[in-house]
Amino acid sequence: MNAQEKNRLFALRQLNLLDTPPSESFDRITRMASQLFDLPISAVSLTDENRQWFKSRVGVDHWEIPRETAPCNGVCNSSQILIIPDLLTSDTYRDSYLANSGIRFYAGAPLVTREGHTLGAMCVLGKQPRQVTEQEQATLRDLAAMVMAQIELQHAFGRVDPLTGLSNRNQFAEDLQDLERDASNDRKVALFTEMVDASELSALHRTMGPAFLDELSRIAARCLQQAISPGVKLYHLGGCQFVHLVEYASDADLLTEALRLRQALLALVTSREVPVLVHPAIGIVPFYLGALAAGDVLRSAYAACLDARLAEKGAGLYSSDLDALYQRRFILLGDIGRALENEQELYLVYQPRVALESGECLGAEALLRWHHPTLGEVSPGEFIPLIENTPMAKPLTQWVMRHAIHQAASWHRQGKALQVSVNVSATNLEEEDFAVRLLEEMARMALPSAAIEVELTESALIGQGEVAANQLKALIAAGLRIAIDDFGTGYSSLSYLHEIPAHTVKIDRRFITDLGEDARTETLVKSMISMAHDLGYRVVAEGVESEAAYQRLVQLGCEEAQGYFIARPLLPEVFEEWLQDRVEG
Ligand code: C2E
Ligand code: CA
Ligand code: CA
Repeated sequence: MNAQEKNRLFALRQLNLLDTPPSESFDRITRMASQLFDLPISAVSLTDENRQWFKSRVGVDHWEIPRETAPCNGVCNSSQILIIPDLLTSDTYRDSYLANSGIRFYAGAPLVTREGHTLGAMCVLGKQPRQVTEQEQATLRDLAAMVMAQIELQHAFGRVDPLTGLSNRNQFAEDLQDLERDASNDRKVALFTEMVDASELSALHRTMGPAFLDELSRIAARCLQQAISPGVKLYHLGGCQFVHLVEYASDADLLTEALRLRQALLALVTSREVPVLVHPAIGIVPFYLGALAAGDVLRSAYAACLDARLAEKGAGLYSSDLDALYQRRFILLGDIGRALENEQELYLVYQPRVALESGECLGAEALLRWHHPTLGEVSPGEFIPLIENTPMAKPLTQWVMRHAIHQAASWHRQGKALQVSVNVSATNLEEEDFAVRLLEEMARMALPSAAIEVELTESALIGQGEVAANQLKALIAAGLRIAIDDFGTGYSSLSYLHEIPAHTVKIDRRFITDLGEDARTETLVKSMISMAHDLGYRVVAEGVESEAAYQRLVQLGCEEAQGYFIARPLLPEVFEEWLQDRVEG
């Protein structure tokens, strides 16, 4: 098959006409053809690879005939009108399929697209030989043109935005595919222009109504179309968002161009064509044709636009780093549900807590670990804050609680007197049934209440609502211990400390790590410890990394220590070995 025929077939298939059901808009034309020519048969016949397929037909029963000897194929190949007054006297068509089925007369006009591809023929046929006048030839051409207009109309449907008259996202995707075919590996740049940001959009929707937004889109479309080079196609994606493609250029040039367009949009406000304040922003994405699908181009361009807004700049280039960060967050949020279910990705490690005076291990803090199937080990410092304010916070803490309680129960059965501390987010305390579920699980495992300590940050403990206060009360009443985690990092620590219903204060590691090196830190830690003692709290120092810090804490009368100097967070089996060595050593 030659290249021209290949392109022709591609164009034909792109139209999605082949093998579609009959449609009245085409049938109307064939009926009219049959009447005008006073002939029993007429058809809109499309030339596929090996067949003539009838989009519309009058007087024929079948949908298709072989392409080989069909006169319509002759029309298609020559792109000329073809008149055969009598098939039986034609050397070419005497033995054709049509002649064999009793057809004597044929006249067909080519169906030609704007790009010059002949899709097939508009034809009329008769069972008697016949002549065609000049005027009838013109009529047949007109009918063919009507068929083409109908085809184009149908094709444009769903590709043109009725509001602005601009092409839409579907057309963008299609045009990008065409570009890829013609010039794959070329570099292009997508400019994504947003007239107003999402919150402005909803505010305008609310105050001015939807018709106003329509008008705003139209004005912005006109303005942008005038501002970009003539001949460059602008697409409206909806919601005052536009995209267009430009040639690759330096970052600086692209930014200059984007800011120029932005100025043009802002000028609409100064000239009062737009009666409200708008904040246009433009995202820029250079890409290689063929390397990114249309959806990815638009997504990245939108990301660049949002990043530009966040950075309070009018325009910005796509940053793969920033985008990767958002993508990663998105993946983590999306995957935590699965991780909670499959019992293969999440696990707990236990970091020992020792009494400073005796060196005895009194307990351990349960710390969550996530081995993500594609991202590898993900730190809780990264995923907990993401999840904390989502509905996943509840099942996540429940998972941690259940596993920590089972581990504590197992140690309890082995005769090890260990207290397991569990981290709980502020949002968990807002769950009405938090304490009940926790206590039920402990009872089910026959675990004494003193075997679990709940770590909460100051902000979770101070100024909470009634629900949270009740949860805390219930836990304390049941005999659980409460620890104030990350002590010293909150602002209200000192004035509120006496109001917090807790047993333990865990001094944050930022004060502890440098202990023994810095005199000011030491003063601070010293007063934190003595104040906590005065208020009746037990004090634990976190992040003890050196012998020096450890010794200072002994001198300052701190009760317990936790940190790399003593042990890293350990898997339960490793923790047990560590404990064994410590007792024996
Ligand atoms: P955190 O509660 O302050 O936990 C202590 C963190 O300090 C842990 O980090 C621990 O590995 C680390 N650490 C322990 N000793 C040292 C030391 O000597 N030096 C230094 N530089 N770091 C030390 P990790 O495990 O990455 O946890 C980070 C944070 O994630 C935790 O801070 C906690 O806020 C949160 N988190 C961890 N597990 C859970 C959980 O099960 N539930 C909730 N809600 N939060 C959790
Ligand atoms: Ca903690
Ligand atoms: Ca902490």
